[in-house]
Amino acid sequence: MSGENDVELVSVTKRYGSALAVDAIDVRIRGGQYCCLLGPSGCGKSSTLRMIAGHESISDGDILIGNRRINEDPPAKRGTAMMFQSYALFPHLDTVENVAFSLKMQGARKDERRSRAMEMLELVSMTDYADRKPDQLSGGQQQRVALARALMTRPSVLLLDEPLSALDPFLRGRMRAELRRIQRELGIIFIHVTHSQEEAMALADVAVVMKDGHIVQEGHPREIFNRPATAFVARFMGGHNVLELDGRTVTLRSDAIRLSRDAGSGQRRATIREVEYQGPQVHLNLATERGEEMAAILPERTYFADPFAPGDAVGVIWTQEDVHQVRP
Ligand code: ADP
Ligand code: MG
Repeated sequence: MSGENDVELVSVTKRYGSALAVDAIDVRIRGGQYCCLLGPSGCGKSSTLRMIAGHESISDGDILIGNRRINEDPPAKRGTAMMFQSYALFPHLDTVENVAFSLKMQGARKDERRSRAMEMLELVSMTDYADRKPDQLSGGQQQRVALARALMTRPSVLLLDEPLSALDPFLRGRMRAELRRIQRELGIIFIHVTHSQEEAMALADVAVVMKDGHIVQEGHPREIFNRPATAFVARFMGGHNVLELDGRTVTLRSDAIRLSRDAGSGQRRATIREVEYQGPQVHLNLATERGEEMAAILPERTYFADPFAPGDAVGVIWTQEDVHQVRP
């Protein structure tokens, strides 16, 4: 069944000259979903987003929005909007004028522009800052204005390219929660490009993990974290050990490992290399006697009940149920 609000990419390809940036990807994003395109720098996330927006031509394949092929439609006719970084705000315009700008371009009357802009500012909790200029706003407030401006055209799909990367960690967390709230309230598709697995896990109904122009896995972040399809996905998501076990490549979550003072117990003998305190948990790097590098995450209280020091010999213990096979 194809939903009338779905975004569908069918064998979508992007070439820059002879370089292949996006290689025949297929994705369907259901109406109302928060989708994160996730992957390391250069894997083709922005190219994909720009093709959906219409800011970049599609070399091959089709993009459908609500079952309508939009390959040749100009950006303003697609029902999409792009949230640009806050530094794209006009410095000489106040908040309302910045938000209302697209309607002014469409020839809407001043009172209508103003009331629509105030509606959007309400949504992003910025009505108190309506007559400030961008340089009188904090980074986080500027982001909200940029978001309100993008939503002015009532898009059915909002596109966001690394929207939180310029913010400090505290604001990033706040703005992340705001994005999720606003997406739920509007019920439209958000397609959010990020290289941060943490961001994708916090936000996405569906995460699409990309590598070298391909999709390597898609699904709910919890599914991807618990059942990474490949060694690459496991390493990229973090929190996993990737090991060779009986000739198979497997992953083992770092928080599924226990350590014993009895170096002869468990599946591996290892030496503690580094201990990093992380607040709720302690992260330990281990070197096994077979030459593997492993990581263990222990709850803070468990660790400090009997702390280890670099150089300590330990037994590394895990249960078979926590071993998950992946493609290499
Ligand atoms: P991401 O957003 O995941 O970092 P991009 O989509 O920006 O990746 O880039 C994918 C690949 O395409 C990279 O190898 C990049 O260098 C290349 N690329 C991106 N934009 C252009 C362009 N305008 N011209 C040529 N190559 C480009
Ligand atoms: Mg990019």
